[in-house]
Amino acid sequence: MKIYNTLSNQKEEFVPVQEGKVGIYVCGPTVYNYIHIGNARPMIVFDTVRRYFEYKGYEVNYVSNFTDVDDKIIKKAIEEGVDASAVSEKFIEECRKDMRDLNVKEATHNPKATEEIDGMIEMIQELIARGFAYEKNGTVYFRTRKFEQYGQLSNKKLDDMVAGIRIAVSEEKDDAMDFVLWKPKKEGEPSWTSPWGEGRPGWHIECSVMSRKYIGDTIDIHAGGEDLIFPHHENEIAQSEACSGKQFARYWMHNGFLNIDNKKMSKSAGNFFTVREIGEKYPLQVIRFFMLSAHYRSPLNFSDTLVEAAKNGLERILTAVDKLKELIPVAKEGAMTDADLAHMEEAKALVAKYEASMEDDFNTADAIAAVFELVKLANITAEEGTAEYVRYLYDTIVKLCDVLGIVTEREEELLDADVEALIAERQEARKAKNFARADEIRDSLAARGILLEDTRAGVKWRRA
Ligand code: AMP
Ligand code: ZN
Repeated sequence: MKIYNTLSNQKEEFVPVQEGKVGIYVCGPTVYNYIHIGNARPMIVFDTVRRYFEYKGYEVNYVSNFTDVDDKIIKKAIEEGVDASAVSEKFIEECRKDMRDLNVKEATHNPKATEEIDGMIEMIQELIARGFAYEKNGTVYFRTRKFEQYGQLSNKKLDDMVAGIRIAVSEEKDDAMDFVLWKPKKEGEPSWTSPWGEGRPGWHIECSVMSRKYIGDTIDIHAGGEDLIFPHHENEIAQSEACSGKQFARYWMHNGFLNIDNKKMSKSAGNFFTVREIGEKYPLQVIRFFMLSAHYRSPLNFSDTLVEAAKNGLERILTAVDKLKELIPVAKEGAMTDADLAHMEEAKALVAKYEASMEDDFNTADAIAAVFELVKLANITAEEGTAEYVRYLYDTIVKLCDVLGIVTEREEELLDADVEALIAERQEARKAKNFARADEIRDSLAARGILLEDTRAGVKWRRA
């Protein structure tokens, strides 16, 4: 399997740290608003990477954080007159809902920055002890020049970078390139007690701490959008490697931007659509399919025309799967005919093409092209085929779509009576203290947009 590694600027053969296992760390969102569909791109892309590793039999440890303490969260909290945690908790839940709707699998670990402060303080202490960090009046800085390999990911030279930097008068750092690990509390901001006084961490340290804690000193794949290469990922490397003395991440993967009119979609520029808004216009799996129709490293322009094209393409696949499903019970039984066997060979060659595309730096665009060829083969050959052959086609297309996170089973609308029956079953399960089943029912209803509320008058439900 080949992966384009930003560190070496070339495709490299993937070799895991531990045979059969892969540890992936993806920088997650800062939770002060609903996520936009640009933020959804890394979620969809790296979830697909994860799914492909699982398809190949790897055990995947997928870690993605929530940055829940940050200037923008604090600003929003002040504007709304609430605690910063009220803002972040709300948008973590909203983000989780969007991710479920985009069929992004639950991460193995979803750490929140505010729950990992102790680890951050420990790592900063380690960096100070090793001479890589120093404190000035309650602020701790990383001593960038001491880390000689600084700039290796972004291909920058320290002295070139310094030229472009203006230091604020309030900053008392030793060198313009030094960056903040810990900053002192300002009035009205959330803070934690540390050896350097009350304060809060800088942004970069959380990912170094969480990736070490949940994966290890050396992780297989570190990923995020390409805007994170500098300074965020460069700083993560410096912090982590200065502590462990080992390589931090073997492969660095960065997705290109989702653009509107060829400009990066971003909250600050105001040219964004939230996943929630787009979800009202299109089924979100159309958006997922649209994102995967391009290579993850290419810029992708968002337009209704392209999304409509993705919608039609997806519909062609879903219709073919529906038809195969209907054919299975009525197709002729018995051994596969010579024609079936020949067609099956063609199908297997297309599966090989799909896999070769995915193994060429996750070229989902070509992998999808292979699925379309399979659909075409199915449309031509299934009608005449035996049940065994039709089932093979059905299982194969469903499986390859599943790796892309595309659900081929059309969801039947839950009727009120079905919901009532599931609620009754949940009540029975609770009475029998089978809480696992009760929670399962609640979650599966939530995933289908039915929210339950336990009130004194009994269980009430509504569509989300
Ligand atoms: P943020 O909340 O801004 O830190 O972004 C969360 C993730 O979304 C990061 O991996 C960003 O690189 C990524 N991201 C933000 N905007 C875009 C965009 N327009 N296209 C692709 N990825 C993006
Ligand atoms: Zn990060």
